[in-house]
Amino acid sequence: MMRGTIICHAGSCISATIPVMENTTTQVQAVTILGSTGSIGTQTLDVIAEHPRRFSVFALSALNSVNRLFKQCQRFKPRYAVIGAHCYDDLLQRFKTANLTTELLCGEQALADIASHNDVDQVVAAIVGGAGLPSIHAAVKAGKRLLLANKESLVMTGRLLLDTSKQTGATVLPLDSEHNALFQCMPSAQGFRHKTLSDAGVSKLLLTGSGGPFRQTPLDKLVDKTPDQACKHPNWSMGQKISVDSATMMNKGLEYIEAKLLFDADDDELDVIIHPQSIVHSLVQYKDGTSLAQIGRSDMRVPIAYALGYPERIESGVSDIDLTRQALTFEAVDYLRYPCLKLAISIAKDNALATVMNAANEIAVDAFLKRAIRFTQIYEIVAKTLDNSESITINCLDDVLTVDALARQRATYITSQLS
Ligand code: NAD
Ligand code: MG
Repeated sequence: MMRGTIICHAGSCISATIPVMENTTTQVQAVTILGSTGSIGTQTLDVIAEHPRRFSVFALSALNSVNRLFKQCQRFKPRYAVIGAHCYDDLLQRFKTANLTTELLCGEQALADIASHNDVDQVVAAIVGGAGLPSIHAAVKAGKRLLLANKESLVMTGRLLLDTSKQTGATVLPLDSEHNALFQCMPSAQGFRHKTLSDAGVSKLLLTGSGGPFRQTPLDKLVDKTPDQACKHPNWSMGQKISVDSATMMNKGLEYIEAKLLFDADDDELDVIIHPQSIVHSLVQYKDGTSLAQIGRSDMRVPIAYALGYPERIESGVSDIDLTRQALTFEAVDYLRYPCLKLAISIAKDNALATVMNAANEIAVDAFLKRAIRFTQIYEIVAKTLDNSESITINCLDDVLTVDALARQRATYITSQLS
C-alpha cells in the first residue's frame, strides 16, 4: 500500500505529493526511462538491475541507438520501447527475429504516452536537450513521480513545470548530482517542513563545479580546443552535450537556474564555487554557520539510487569513498574563463531569456561537435542570440515552444555567419 503525504521543500515545494512506501519489499515500481541508451539511462538500468524485486522496467526509449536499445529490451523485457522513426523498421525486424514481446513505437506522442501511462509509477527523464520537454510535460501532467536529469526542460519552462506539478500532484526529484545533493542536505529530507529557504534556516545554497577539462588551460589557447578534448571530462563520464557544457560551464549556468527554480532561491541565496575533484556534490549553508555537504564518488548511480528509492536508501552499486586518498580543494569561479556561466546567472530570473539561452547553446554546441565552429564561439553565438532577443512573459507551454523555435532559428543564422 502507498499513501500520499505533502512534503513542502524549502521554497518552491519541489514536490507536491511524495509517495511514502509502507511495504517496499512487495511494492514493485514500474519505471519508464526516457533516453535509456544514454549515460544517465544506462546507469539507471544498472541500479534497477540491482533491485529486481523493487523495480520493473515499463518502457525504454532511444533516438537511434538500435543495438543498445535492442539489448536493453532483451534483458529488461519492457512492455514498450520507443525509437526514432528512421530506425523503427530495423529494430522491429530484430524484435521479430528474437521473438521479443516488447511493443515497438515511434514518434513524440509515443514518448508522451510511455511517460504518462496509467501503469507507470516513476519516469526517468534522461533525454538530452529541449527534445525531452514534451514527454516530461506529459509525465508531470499525469501526476507521475519524475526523476529529472534533463535540466534543459526546467530551464525552458521556468515555474510552469513546477506549478503544473503542484496542480497534478506530480513529484519532481532531481537527478542532477548537485541538486540531488542539495535535496539530501535540505531540512525537508530530514523530516522538517518549511516554506522558504530563510524560514528553513538556510542562508545559502552552494553549487560545486569541477571547472571542466580546461580549468587550467591558458585563456588564449581555448580557441583551439577540439570536441574530443572538450568531451574528456576529468571526473565524470557523460554524454557529449553535457560534457561540452561542462567545459564552457554553461552546464553550471543551467544548473544555477535549475536550483533557483527547484528551491526558490533568491540571488543572494545561491552561489557557485569550483571544486576540481567532484567529491563534494554541493552544500547547504545554514544561518548558524553550519554547512551540510553531500559527499561521494563521481558516479551518477548514487543520486539515481537516492531518487529511485526515496525516501528509503537503497544500494546503488557504488562503494564508499576513502577520504584519506583524496585532497578536497575549493576556489572561486574565474568568470573571464567561463563567460557562459556569467551570462546564465545574469538572465536567470527571466524565463524567456533563459529559454533563448538554452536554445542558442544547443545549436552552438551541436555546431561545435560537428567542428563547424570553434570552442570560444559557443559563447559568442549564445550572447549574440540573446542580444537579438526580447524578454516576454511566458504563460503556457506553447509560449515556451514559440520562443524556443525562434531562438533556434536566430542561433542557426548567427552560427552560419561564423562557420
Ligand atoms: P546522452 O547523450 O548520453 O543520452 C541521451 C539519451 O537521449 C539517449 O538515449 C538518446 O538516444 C536520447 N535522445 C537524444 N536526442 C533525442 C531526441 N531528439 N529525441 C528522443 N531521444 C533522444 O545524454 P546524458 O549525458 O545521459 O544526459 C541526459 C540528460 O541528463 C541531459 O539533459 C543532461 O544534462 C542530464 N544530466 C546528465 C548527467 C550525466 O552524468 N550524464 C548528469 C546530470 C544531468
Ligand atoms: Mg550536474
